[in-house]
Amino acid sequence: MPDWCPECNAMLVEGTKECPRCGAKIAGPGGEDDFSGSDIAWFSAYTIAILLIPIIIGIGVALLCLLVFFGRS
Ligand SMILES: [Zn+2]
Repeated sequence: MPDWCPECNAMLVEGTKECPRCGAKIAGPGGEDDFSGSDIAWFSAYTIAILLIPIIIGIGVALLCLLVFFGRS
């Protein structure tokens, strides 16, 4: 079940100690054990986004090149 920031109503990752949007301290039921898990989840989400953007741009450019190439012949 996701938590919500009491200050700005941003959705928080489970077990997070601080709101990523406004930096408010979150008093959750989760202990110190949850800290590393939520950190890894944020890191992987960031990594996937960073990896996907160039791939999508690359596919777009490749399709454009194919269209130009086959359009001429
Ligand atoms: Zn907040």
